[in-house]
Amino acid sequence: MMVDVDIFRRGAQARAGVLTQRLRRLVTCESPPGAGPELAACADLLQAWGDAALGRRGRRVVLDGLPHLLWSAPDQRVLLLGHYDTVWPAGTISEWPFTLTGSTATGPGVCDMKAGIVQMLTALELLPDTSRVGLLLTCDEESGSVTSRPLIEEQARRSGAVLVGEPSTEGGDLKVARKGGSVYRITVGGRAAHAGVEPHRGVNAGVELAHHVLAVQAFAVGETSVTPTVLSAGTMTNVVPESAVLCVDVRAWTREELHRVDRLVRELTPRLPDARLTVSGGINRYPLPAAVSTPLLRIAQSAAADLGLPAVRGVAAPGASDANFTGALGVPTLDGLGGVGGLPHARGEYVDVARMPERTALLAALTARILAAPPAGPAVSPEPGTSAALGGPRPLDAVPAGQGSSTDG
Ligand SMILES: [Zn+2]
Repeated sequence: MMVDVDIFRRGAQARAGVLTQRLRRLVTCESPPGAGPELAACADLLQAWGDAALGRRGRRVVLDGLPHLLWSAPDQRVLLLGHYDTVWPAGTISEWPFTLTGSTATGPGVCDMKAGIVQMLTALELLPDTSRVGLLLTCDEESGSVTSRPLIEEQARRSGAVLVGEPSTEGGDLKVARKGGSVYRITVGGRAAHAGVEPHRGVNAGVELAHHVLAVQAFAVGETSVTPTVLSAGTMTNVVPESAVLCVDVRAWTREELHRVDRLVRELTPRLPDARLTVSGGINRYPLPAAVSTPLLRIAQSAAADLGLPAVRGVAAPGASDANFTGALGVPTLDGLGGVGGLPHARGEYVDVARMPERTALLAALTARILAAPPAGPAVSPEPGTSAALGGPRPLDAVPAGQGSSTDG
């Protein structure tokens, strides 16, 4: 069944002013990382908007004090997924207020991803029937989606498709593939001794660590990066270090690459006699494979053509997002449907508000077409041993705090 997209084009254009007003309001309502009164106030605003846009009441799913917002649908064909937390601490807005110069809006979180949320909510208003559309707005994506991940995976599994409102590229391209990532914490145990009197009695954990810093770096091949990040060793200048820690960030385009590096990291063995090595952490997010995005990209491209928009391309993005979780389950997923802008996580992040109506219309048309003719089943099957196969989320507790590969970019 063909869907007439003209109502979306006209409806979104008529709301051009509303889109900008909403963006100003949402950016001004700060949502810094971590549980706090600002996040709760932002959740109140979004709850009111979401309830009105969907015509039904959303549920607040509070996990570790973090208020995620969920409007689920009994027969959920499409899930719109976004996060309303930003990387910016509370108070940023007072030194960097929402500002509009020409059609360029700037302010904390304007691009990542408040424009995307405003577009999603406005697109929902344009849809004649939202009874089979779910909306999930989480608030811990920028810190690794530690509490929201099970919720995201649960809702993705009961959806036919997931559309993610992270920013597009600066040119408006969608994101059809993302790298996956792993985080490791390698702890070295040595033996303390007086560094000046009898260093030979010690086992220098710092020297042991140095071997592994160089070893893991050599695991990087092609576009797979293996980066030593946090390094520490020793306590006093006159003591042979008793312990040392090395954290490693791994990014790769394929599961196979993540597994290859995982094997190598786990095969590391001590170089110094009596030194001990412990590896914790592991694969955190599988890549978003292009195979799960391509069927939806095709629908988006034909919708864009019917809307009279410039051609929409799909590009691979190195940064991870929550789309990695849903795509890894084999659920058709398309990302980059948010604002057209740039410089996320930077002081100059911006969005082109002149393009918000067209992106809103595109999202509405894409959603309507999926509802009318869902794309064929899972494009890839979940890998045995992943959360999908086990029916539960992978534990994240082995990953050191603050080291999760989380943000886009
Ligand atoms: Zn984001």
